[in-house]
Amino acid sequence: MPIVSRVTLPALVMLACAGPVSAQGNSSWSQPFMPHRVAGNLYYVGTRGLASYLITTPEGHILINSSLESSVPMIRASVEKLGFKFSDVKILLVSHAHWDHNAGSALVKELTGAKYMVMEQDVAVTEDGGKSDFQYGSEPSSRYKPAKVDRVLHDGDEVKLGGAVLKAHLTPGHTKGCTTWTMTAREGAKAYDVVIVGSPNVNEGYRLVNNDKYPGIAADFAKTFQVLKSLHCDIFLGAHGDYYGMDAKVAKMKPDGPNVFVDPDGYRAWVADREQAYLRALKNAK
Ligand SMILES: [Zn+2]
Repeated sequence: MPIVSRVTLPALVMLACAGPVSAQGNSSWSQPFMPHRVAGNLYYVGTRGLASYLITTPEGHILINSSLESSVPMIRASVEKLGFKFSDVKILLVSHAHWDHNAGSALVKELTGAKYMVMEQDVAVTEDGGKSDFQYGSEPSSRYKPAKVDRVLHDGDEVKLGGAVLKAHLTPGHTKGCTTWTMTAREGAKAYDVVIVGSPNVNEGYRLVNNDKYPGIAADFAKTFQVLKSLHCDIFLGAHGDYYGMDAKVAKMKPDGPNVFVDPDGYRAWVADREQAYLRALKNAK
């Protein structure tokens, strides 16, 4: 699995998790990272450890993941460095309702007036600032400023703006409304199928059986792997850059070289690895 070779296992767990263990965050979360074009009108505008994506259109932009409140000025700087206006962000989406991806949403809404669109099963927790999270609700460090959801999304819904179309796939388990986004990025004559994975990770402490607060969690994870395996992926992205080996891919970028983010084999291998991790966790839970 590519990501294991680059980071130690504890570091990987820290990056993959949003939980009390990492409530202070990983140092990479607050490190700036070079904003870059992924393909066509799709750009990376996140920090080193927390991925945010910008989809630009003539009618304004879509931002995926507000990340931490302290990430917002860094995301803004990245958007501006690419030559776009932060105030042109019209729609805000998230990978899932954990604070490392959504704590900055209230601030993004305030600064841009963007419409916040969230998967149905993550709406309540988003609007109570993490209080009703099935795992971390009682952890004050996992809370964030509540943000009002302007449009409730359902599995398969499309978000459209200025010719861009993003499809919301419910990939639950990690959170009840965890969302994997897909879109087509066009570059010249090429069209790439992009998958932005929400998270398939079973965090430390997650109870896969006899979970009163999330009785269907194991079945939901199983459904998520079915969905992820069914998606056609050319360009592999995710809620954290380490899912898809962002650092190494960015280091290989060349002005006229091939698109380094095209990685269908890496996607399949990573999904398979994460499914094995889930199956091990399930076996241990029984
Ligand atoms: Zn998470």
